[in-house]
Amino acid sequence: LADRLQSTIKKITGKGKVSEQDVKEMTREVRLALLEADVNFKVVKDLINRIKERAVGQEVMESLTPGQQVIKVVKEELTDLMGGEQSKIAVSDRPPTVIMMVGLQGAGKTTTTGKLANLLRKKYNRSPLLVACDVYRPAAIKQLETLGEQLDMPVFSLGTEVSPIDIAKQAIDKAKNEHHDYVIIDTAGRLHVDTDLMDELQQIKSTVVPDEIFLVVDSMTGQDAVNVAESFNEQLDISGVVLTKLDGDTRGGAALSIKAVTGKPIKFAGMGEKLDQLEAFHPERMASRILGMGDVLSLIEKAQTSVNEKQAKELEEKMRTMSFTFDDFLEQMGQVRKMGPLDELISMLPGANKMKGLKNAQIDEKQIVHVEAIIQSMTKKERQDPSLMNASRKKRIAKGSGTNVSQVNRLLKQFDDMKKMMKQMTNMQKGKKGKGMKF
Ligand code: GDP
Ligand code: MG
Repeated sequence: LADRLQSTIKKITGKGKVSEQDVKEMTREVRLALLEADVNFKVVKDLINRIKERAVGQEVMESLTPGQQVIKVVKEELTDLMGGEQSKIAVSDRPPTVIMMVGLQGAGKTTTTGKLANLLRKKYNRSPLLVACDVYRPAAIKQLETLGEQLDMPVFSLGTEVSPIDIAKQAIDKAKNEHHDYVIIDTAGRLHVDTDLMDELQQIKSTVVPDEIFLVVDSMTGQDAVNVAESFNEQLDISGVVLTKLDGDTRGGAALSIKAVTGKPIKFAGMGEKLDQLEAFHPERMASRILGMGDVLSLIEKAQTSVNEKQAKELEEKMRTMSFTFDDFLEQMGQVRKMGPLDELISMLPGANKMKGLKNAQIDEKQIVHVEAIIQSMTKKERQDPSLMNASRKKRIAKGSGTNVSQVNRLLKQFDDMKKMMKQMTNMQKGKKGKGMKF
């Protein structure tokens, strides 16, 4: 999905003005991409219509190029499609609040039960009781008990001989007696949706009257996940969806249509196997991810508010023509610091997580003070042309700035790297093709 969209975006971002034809072309690509990702036909149609309407009709904001504008519209529509942020969990006025976890086998119900319990305790200071209602596999009970041990939380189980309906019922009584404010019921799954399973889940539901029914779906299963969500919702009227294994899913197709098809929000996202890897689901981040452009938009927005437009233009031109100097660097550092911590900014760059070294590079704000001192110790000529730098000049600069030669060398290297990175960044934002310097 991301690849297709990106190549279209690239085509369009290079232009100075977006014509109706551009929008047509862009939306055609978006449509194909979404259909290819197996997104529901009607969902796609509605989305495309909205994008067209907005992208063509809208005035071009001065601060954004028309290409960025279209991307912004697409991104906003994708975000809307997935609903607003909905990570709230019900609180019953008559405790315990009961959460029932449902889903197919292997979707991640048991793991998510543990994660949710962990979240409830950590974030809301609650004391949940976990309930093992998957009585068909002894290993499933053991799995939940192990999670309970890891979390140091009680797990209620009556083995494999008692019906899950009775287990659920007794668990609620126990929770009342022992003042647990939440009960999380882990249920059985099947490989496919079947009536036996649905019957059982419906009986549990009518017995315990849960405040939440969370459907756990595996995002890697793509459009299947959407079909599963649709049938579970029809049968059980779920309250929300937990999308698991998003750490391994690159397409995002499931995330896109679940809300549109079921009307139920995705509340949480599983980002790994560990017990703390459950996050609130952020539709906006997901939209960025689907567009495959990091948080480019928030970076643009940030830059727009902090950096004077004209200055930014000049700077960009300098970066493009590679006439960027240490003087600009110094001035820019002031600007950049207004935008926020450096490492945060860098992490927003597209592909930053793939750039070697950057991932773990902690940028020390203290170091910036040294950097400023070093640049201030350079002569005007040296600032304009770092290639002048030789051993004796470096020594002098180190002395003048209270640093040492290796720090000076490091800065020279960093300056060079930064130039390259900024260059990449302008290219990505502008989609300028082929022109400019090569590295
Ligand atoms: P259940 O059958 O629905 O109870 O599924 P389980 O909770 O047993 O999970 C099935 C497998 O998926 C296990 O190996 C989990 O560790 C794994 N799993 C669950 N959630 C996630 C997730 O968010 N990311 C990853 N990578 N693995 C997950
Ligand atoms: Mg399980």
